[in-house]
Amino acid sequence: MAANPSVLVTGASTGIGATYADRFARRGHDLVLVARDRTRMEALATRLRQETGVAIDIIQADLTQAAELAVVEARLRDDARIGILINNAGTALGGSFIEQSTDDITRLVALNTTALLRLASAVAPRFAQAGEGAIINIGSVVGLAPEFAMTVYGATKAFALFLSQGLSLELGPKGVYVQAVLPAATRTEIWQHAGADVSTMSGVMEVDELVDAALVGFDRREAVTIPPLPDVEQWNAYQAARQAMLPNTRQKHAAARYRTAV
Ligand code: NAP
Repeated sequence: MAANPSVLVTGASTGIGATYADRFARRGHDLVLVARDRTRMEALATRLRQETGVAIDIIQADLTQAAELAVVEARLRDDARIGILINNAGTALGGSFIEQSTDDITRLVALNTTALLRLASAVAPRFAQAGEGAIINIGSVVGLAPEFAMTVYGATKAFALFLSQGLSLELGPKGVYVQAVLPAATRTEIWQHAGADVSTMSGVMEVDELVDAALVGFDRREAVTIPPLPDVEQWNAYQAARQAMLPNTRQKHAAARYRTAV
């Protein structure tokens, strides 16, 4: 793999993905941009080629469509220049669970989880074989918080976090770095798609600051990066509580509270 490997970014036409593309181009990495809107990606690519001189390819793909997703998977499997995958494409949905249509939540899951999973699966064996490479999965703090009333979206983001943590344990020893990035509210178009007016919300991070902070975590090889969280000890305590509980789940008998009638 090259010293400065190519970076494949999904959801690169706007928002967090476009900002990652900008930052990696400025670091001298060639790019492969993936999203549905070719015009926007062409405009970004033209600007970044002029400003940075890197080579940029574009794959127009709807990642909820198996045949289009397969093109991106093949590129990740076969193009040995690609050494970093940024699994960023994702969307959100407004409304409560009973208001959301079955088809809409199925599409949400297809994009936020199935596509993310298939792309990681396409590239991980090659990275492991090479003993290097990086996968960045964009999760969300919503994946930690059923209380936020974004149930299906949050479930997809919990999947992204769990997958990242598991892959980090599996692939880390093989030289492959896996990072989960958990933004909180960040000023992008995703809020329009979810039917919310971001201009009325407080505590919203600008997308440049979010990505620059996430890249500090990337450079430090953090497994989980939560840019807005002020005290990392809260995250560490949360992980420690989970790990302390795990040995207690291996029991021959049900807990005492389930061995008495109501
Ligand atoms: P965004 O501005 O809406 O951008 C989403 C990107 O995904 C766009 O490039 C979009 O491009 C692409 N995309 C959407 N549907 C697609 C599809 N079917 N196939 C291929 N690409 C598709 O959203 P963002 O805020 O940058 O979100 C990026 C990631 O950050 C998402 O995973 C999101 O869940 C996560 N996140 C965002 C926030 C936030 O507050 N903004 C917070 C936590 C996590 P096209 O429309 O051109 O396809």
